[in-house]
Amino acid sequence: MARVYNFSAGPAVLPEEVLKEAAEEMLDYKGTGMSVMEMSHRSKAFDDIIKTAEQDLRDLMNIPDNYKVMFLQGGASQQFAMIPMNLMKNKVADYIVTGQWAKKAWQEASKYGKANKIASSEDQTFSYIPDCSDLPISEDADYVYICENNTIYGTKYKELPNTKGKTLVADVSSCFLSEPVDVSKYGIIYGGVQKNIGPAGVVIVIMREDLITEDVLEGTPTMLQYKTHADAQSLYNTPPAYGIYICGKVFQWLKKMGGLEAMKKHNEEKAKILYDYLDSSKLFKGTVVEKDRSLMNVPFVTGDEEMDAKFVKEAKAAGFENLKGHRTVGGMRASIYNAMPKEGVEKLVEFMKKFEEANA
Ligand SMILES: *Cc1c(COP(=O)(O)O)cnc(C)c1O
Repeated sequence: MARVYNFSAGPAVLPEEVLKEAAEEMLDYKGTGMSVMEMSHRSKAFDDIIKTAEQDLRDLMNIPDNYKVMFLQGGASQQFAMIPMNLMKNKVADYIVTGQWAKKAWQEASKYGKANKIASSEDQTFSYIPDCSDLPISEDADYVYICENNTIYGTKYKELPNTKGKTLVADVSSCFLSEPVDVSKYGIIYGGVQKNIGPAGVVIVIMREDLITEDVLEGTPTMLQYKTHADAQSLYNTPPAYGIYICGKVFQWLKKMGGLEAMKKHNEEKAKILYDYLDSSKLFKGTVVEKDRSLMNVPFVTGDEEMDAKFVKEAKAAGFENLKGHRTVGGMRASIYNAMPKEGVEKLVEFMKKFEEANA
C-alpha cells in the first residue's frame, strides 16, 4: 500500500488514523454485526454516533447553547439558495465578493431578492481581501455574506467585516476547524465538509436559534427550510449517515490533537514552510497579497504555463498529487488542510527546491 501526499482542494486528505479505524469497523461496527452504511438512522447505534459528533463539534468550536448544529446535504452550493430563502425577510442582502464561491452565492441570492455586491476583489483576480471596516451596509439588509477562506484564490479574512450590526453569514468550507473561531459573531457559519473535515455529502450549518423561523420566502420547499432540520435534530429524513460517522471520527481526532488552538499552531507552521520558500524562490511565486494569505490553500505560479505543467507532471510522478491550480486560475495550488502532515509540506518544498535547481 502506498499513500501519496494529496494536496487536493476537495474532496481532500483525511487523517490516516480515521481511515484505518473506519476500515476496522467496516464489517462490524461495535458489535452490531453491520457497517454504519447498513444501519438504520433511527437505531440506537446511529443515535449515539450523531449525538456524539454534535457534542464533540460543540466542544471543539465552543458553540454557544443558543446555536443549532445541523448536518445537511446538497453541498455548500445548496446553501447559496437556502440562505436567502430563509433569511431574506426584507428581500435585501449584502454580499462581499472575494472569489468564485462568493460570486455564485451572490448570483443565486439575486434570484430571491436584492443582493447588493458591496465590495469585491475581482479587479485583481481575487488576490486580496478588500478593506471591510466601513462598507456601505444597506440599512434594511437581512444579512451580510462572506466566503471566509477563498479555496480557489487562497485568500482568507484575518478580520471579520464590520457589518454595522447586521447578521453575518459565512461560508467556511475550506477553513472549517482550521483554527478557533468566535461563533457568537456569526448568524450562520456553514461549510461543506469535504475540504477540511470528512467525505463529500455532508454540509454542517451552525445557526443562531432566533434566525430559524417559519417566516421564509413563499414556496420554499420543506427540505430547504432550516426549521425542518433544526426541529428534527437533522433526522427529518435519512441523513448522510456514513459521512456524519466519519466527521465524528475526525472531531475525535481533532480533540486528541489538542483542539483548534493546537491545530492553528500546526497549520501556521506548515503554511510558513511553504510561504517562506515561495518568498525566497526565483522560480515560483505566491499569487496572494501577503496579509491575506490563507493557511489552507496556497496558490503559486512560475509565470510560464509550460513550466507549470512540467512541474505538476514531475511532482505527480514523485508522489505529490493534485497540485494543479483551479481550472479558472491555472498555475499550482497546494491545499494543506488539517490532515496534511507537516512532513508532506517539508517534502513538497524539498521537491520544489530540486525542481528549481534543475530548471534554473
Ligand atoms: C468547494 C466549495 C464550495 C462548493 O461546495 P459544494 O459542496 O461542491 O457545493 C463552496 N464554497 C467554498 C468556500 C468551497 O471551497
